[in-house]
Amino acid sequence: MVAEKATDSANENNKMDVLKSTQQVIRNALDKLGYPEEVYELLKEPVRMMTVRIPVRMDNGSIKIFTGYRAQHNDAVGPTKGGVRFHPNVSEKEVKALSIWMSLKAGIVDLPYGGGKGGIVCDPREMSFRELEGLSRGYVRAISQIVGPTKDIPAPDVFTNSQIMAWMMDEYSRIDEFNNPGFITGKPLVLGGSHGRESATAKGVTICIEEAAKQKGISVEGARVVIQGFGNAGSFLAKFMHDAGAKVIGISDAYGALHDPEGLDIDYLLDRRDSFGTVTKLFKDTISNPELLELDCDILVPAAIENQITEENAHKIKAPIVVEAANGPTTLEATRILSERGILLVPDVLASAGGVTVSYFEWVQNNQGYYWTEEEVEAKLREVMVKGFNSVYHTSDTRRIDMRLAAYMVGVRKMAEASRFRGWI
Ligand code: GLU
Repeated sequence: MVAEKATDSANENNKMDVLKSTQQVIRNALDKLGYPEEVYELLKEPVRMMTVRIPVRMDNGSIKIFTGYRAQHNDAVGPTKGGVRFHPNVSEKEVKALSIWMSLKAGIVDLPYGGGKGGIVCDPREMSFRELEGLSRGYVRAISQIVGPTKDIPAPDVFTNSQIMAWMMDEYSRIDEFNNPGFITGKPLVLGGSHGRESATAKGVTICIEEAAKQKGISVEGARVVIQGFGNAGSFLAKFMHDAGAKVIGISDAYGALHDPEGLDIDYLLDRRDSFGTVTKLFKDTISNPELLELDCDILVPAAIENQITEENAHKIKAPIVVEAANGPTTLEATRILSERGILLVPDVLASAGGVTVSYFEWVQNNQGYYWTEEEVEAKLREVMVKGFNSVYHTSDTRRIDMRLAAYMVGVRKMAEASRFRGWI
């Protein structure tokens, strides 16, 4: 038997900050809304957290035991909803914070869901297809009692995709003994997936960029855009920005970044990226991720991982607009510095809500057994995102608070009200 490497303690401390800072903003938002202490006590942690151990037979014949989690933050509004992440840095605290963020996203774009999140500590870049299938099916068997189309609906997240969703759906359908597409979203089209789901997060970010640009009097056409991360969100976003006539002057992956002040050849880069979003290894002339963030540009989009804009570099950011496509890329201290400098920061819980919005559309289509066109999906997504942006922007503007606190206020309210009506608090 091969034991799995433990997550290192430095990383664990990092994740602790993510949960703590989320709790701090939840507290500030509830205080501003005038809710009593017990509301914070309920919402500061998930109502349910399951830890599972998943044995998988590896290609070399050994059995490896993986650790997985599923967090359900609050199910007062409806079933919980959120992705499953496959990554070596997954930890209990990170999954908890991510489930809270899913509740906030659902609240901001007004979906009938609470937040959930799952994660497995693993490195899919070093696993075969067969091993990934075993892990995906094992995870579903382990969490099957607490998930389901009316309880908690998983979806893709970092390093998971439509193939993994298909294996998970098939495993759940076997356990449940009937074909159950509404159990999970982000499926391939032929298995009840929705048009526009794969590019939905990037489309939602694009809509937020357009709205933020309007507020700042900047035209997206001709704007210089820098995108950190070339995974699902970053790569589709680069394409959408390029198609809108913006100049994408910087992109990056986990290994480095590319910069061309005249604009990068996005079609070429998209063609050469691998399925984990790696592309910079093909180039000699690269810059570092920290250098990328400080480039002179009009719009900066962190679309990679947590804690990238910190108090160390926040005063060096040159973009007047920062739109968070990743979950948690800016620390609280950095949020304060950017806000003081007059930089418009569109927070993750708003900017990245396009993914879960189209997941909701997918679930609705599965429940109806009636499928929409790509144009219908896009028009409905636009309507939802613009409404979400406007309510957060209006709250931020009228209360003179930063967009993150405003987004938390908008996001937390429905969940707090629903919990109160149910008699929980
Ligand atoms: N993983 C995505 C997110 O963080 C999508 C979740 C979903 O579609 O349920 O928003």
